[in-house]
Amino acid sequence: GAFPQKRGLGLVVQTQMSKKGRVFSGARPTGRQHLGNYLGAIKNYVALQADYDCVYCIVDLHAMTTLEDLSQIKANTAEMALDWLAAGLRPEETILFVQSHVPQVTELHTILSMFTPLGKLTDLPTFKDKVRLQPHNINYGLVGYPVLMTADITLYKADVVPVGVDQQSHLEFAREVVRTFHHRTGRQVLVEPQMKNTEFPKVLGTDGKRKMGKSENNHIELALTPEETEQMVRTMVTDPQRARRDDPGDPEVCNVFTLHKSFSSSEDITMIDRECRTAGIGCVDCKKLLARNLNEHLQPFRERRAELAKDPQHVWEVLHDGARRASAIAAETIAEVKAAAGLP
Ligand code: SF4
Repeated sequence: GAFPQKRGLGLVVQTQMSKKGRVFSGARPTGRQHLGNYLGAIKNYVALQADYDCVYCIVDLHAMTTLEDLSQIKANTAEMALDWLAAGLRPEETILFVQSHVPQVTELHTILSMFTPLGKLTDLPTFKDKVRLQPHNINYGLVGYPVLMTADITLYKADVVPVGVDQQSHLEFAREVVRTFHHRTGRQVLVEPQMKNTEFPKVLGTDGKRKMGKSENNHIELALTPEETEQMVRTMVTDPQRARRDDPGDPEVCNVFTLHKSFSSSEDITMIDRECRTAGIGCVDCKKLLARNLNEHLQPFRERRAELAKDPQHVWEVLHDGARRASAIAAETIAEVKAAAGLP
């Protein structure tokens, strides 16, 4: 029942007083989403719709800071939006759009950059990481990335931003920029966003070592067929100490068990936790069960995705409709910011 209606575009939904405020979150267009994206973001995005007015943005401009091959941005945007919609984002109420479709964000970025000390940006650990990771492409946009993120959040007057531990420093940074802007202009026109700390399960890839990710090539995509899913699950690395079928295993160090905890029934989880430790269940059967439960869980998603994919234009209509609604908020904010900043 949580799946969005296909139609209903152009509907401007009034802010519902019953909701707790506005949430903003952005994600880079990475194409087809995997289990890590699902457990780490999408599931939460869907759930937040019940309590908040949600603004979800596909941040194509941010993607440009690290991509060298830009040719995939458009296709990746469409694929990601398809997955989000199929997973239960409801565009009739949630604003789902592409960052660059609302150009005021770059305007706000420029204005806020004047209130941001350069040293703060170059001192951020995330910037230093990027310098280390892409020494041949230390572009100007990379330095300003947190300012653009601040513009994303504040342009849409978000009250709340869901963040994992790794992004807390960026949100704290955004709050500081807002305070500086208010202090120097003497006008409180922006909303200082609150952090909504969210505990995400740590999802490792099929290698059982690194975080699940496309660049690591250790991911399981949501949109795979049941057979492909089973095949991927079969390749998963289990408890490395369990060399033979008769060896007892430790589910706590096994990534297959981590996924069971998210996709299997409590009976299955209890059974595996017990039987793995006594070698009552083998890894082959344990994985078969995981694949079955995963496929069962993802079946409505896959049906819905196939339905949506029949009309490739539809996803762009949804995104453009979202951009129109986002623009209405953005126009208001930018006017207030310019007035506060004393621009003629
Ligand atoms: Fe992991 Fe399951 Fe094998 Fe235990 S039985 S090591 S939980 S795959």
